[in-house]
Amino acid sequence: MKRTGLTAVDLVPLGERMRMISAFRAAAVVVILISWLAVPSTRGVSFQVTAIAGMGYLAATLLVEAIWRRSDAPARFLFGVIAMSDSLFLAWASYGSAGLDTPLRYLVLLQLITVSLLASFRTGLKLAMFNSWLLLCAVYATETGAVDALGGEKVVFGDDAYLRVAVEVIIYFLVTVVTTSFAAINERELRRRRYDLEELARFALGLEQAESPADVAETLLEGVSEIYGCEPSVVVRLEKDGILHSLASRGLLRRVPGEDMEADLKSARFTLQDEAPVIAKAMQDDQTMLVRGAGTQGDKILAEFAPDANVAILPLRGPHGGVVGVMVAEHPARRGSRIERRVLTMMERFASHGSLALENARLLEEVRALSITDPLTGLANRRHLDAVLDRACAQVAKGHGTLSVMMIDIDHFKKLNDTHGHQAGDDVLKLVAKTLERDLRAGDLAARYGGEEFTIVMPGATGPAVEQAAERLRDAITRLPHPIPVTISVGVAWAPVHGIDRETITKAADHALYAAKTGGRNRVALAVVPDLVAARRA
Ligand code: GH3
Ligand code: MG
Ligand code: MG
Repeated sequence: MKRTGLTAVDLVPLGERMRMISAFRAAAVVVILISWLAVPSTRGVSFQVTAIAGMGYLAATLLVEAIWRRSDAPARFLFGVIAMSDSLFLAWASYGSAGLDTPLRYLVLLQLITVSLLASFRTGLKLAMFNSWLLLCAVYATETGAVDALGGEKVVFGDDAYLRVAVEVIIYFLVTVVTTSFAAINERELRRRRYDLEELARFALGLEQAESPADVAETLLEGVSEIYGCEPSVVVRLEKDGILHSLASRGLLRRVPGEDMEADLKSARFTLQDEAPVIAKAMQDDQTMLVRGAGTQGDKILAEFAPDANVAILPLRGPHGGVVGVMVAEHPARRGSRIERRVLTMMERFASHGSLALENARLLEEVRALSITDPLTGLANRRHLDAVLDRACAQVAKGHGTLSVMMIDIDHFKKLNDTHGHQAGDDVLKLVAKTLERDLRAGDLAARYGGEEFTIVMPGATGPAVEQAAERLRDAITRLPHPIPVTISVGVAWAPVHGIDRETITKAADHALYAAKTGGRNRVALAVVPDLVAARRA
């Protein structure tokens, strides 16, 4: 690839680094000219020669750079060549013309620092070596009398000037090593921060796809586990009644005698004060808590971690402040050592993003629940009933199982309203709804069809079983300990015998209900079988 290869990760683009080197070079020329005017010890040659050489050199490097920008020449090569020419120029302009005592030789150190920072350790070292070589060349040339570079003195091997040069060379290398080491620390930190930000952005994207609070909690745990190795971990949310509800867990090993099995804490519930006192404290303090020896703290949630685990408890905050839950994650620090500050900060950022997403998901869930719930009775509303019934009928139509529908209507409800008032009527509706719901099996659905009419959908049941279930419900309603006696009439139909889609099966159950009403109320009636052959098959 073209113009790469100066550092592993180019935090600063190459063109910009070239510009910085040029700026250094221009500043060096200005310093050389000013010091010629101000400091007599820096005057090795005449001002005209210094000025022409300085300006000429600047112009030449600008030209080379301009050509490079239009060519395909590799960056590393050009960088090296330009840095070496800078060394030559600075050597000439400082000790090469004005002797070892000139303060301008510090420019060589500045050049080393600049190149080490902008290029790499290797380039810096090479340049330190080149600068040392140049210095030694100057000493040798003076020693042999070829030139009198070092201030006109004739140097003799082993004298003072040699020692100074040796010290100077050592300083070149020290400056290079120290500069690049410190720069590497900064660069590593910058790279880590960039990595952290990228991970955070990726996590935020993952959160957008999480629909339910459990999804959000899982995304959160996945983030901190995979990126920072914080596993095992768990997210618990505080519910209204002081109960901590586990939304997701990861990598927990529940120690069962004889075998280690992964504990799935999903949906587990703990009382905040009695069962999770340490978590309760972290929530109350509303700040991250680091706990050593999680399993020995007398906290049932922490006990799911290894006894000697180091965990961080991070509060999850709601949009209006207030702690709504916590994330507990074992951090990878070895026993006795502290968790890295950076990892903890990132976990806190993850937790704070996760908290907001959790709250949004909860609100979304609430809105969804509201949209399918009848506000008075809390049962499914008509919209939800229709959707469920459509789905269930489609399954039966495909030949998967059977399905029963009960239409339930409260008897003489109008009279009840008229006699006792609508508030009493509402109370009866709520009571009947609660009674209907209480006796349902998992997978059954009770809905308010409208007014004082209810529907129960029972997948898998038909015939006598449904009739008995309906009878049980009717009986339960008559036995309600309510000051106003309440009875219901029930019509029962089932698929595929009485119909195979929502409309026909509902109609069949409705006809049966009408029959129960005309038959005297407070009774159960079965739908009429439209096709005797079908009836026999059933
Ligand atoms: P039947 O035994 O034939 O079913 O007689 P009924 O009086 O129950 O039947 P009808 O359909 O004539 O009356 C239903 C009544 O239910 C009329 C209406 O005022 C009342 N009702 C419908 N929805 C509500 C409600 O949400 N709250 C209250 N209190 N009453 C309601
Ligand atoms: Mg009615
Ligand atoms: Mg009625």
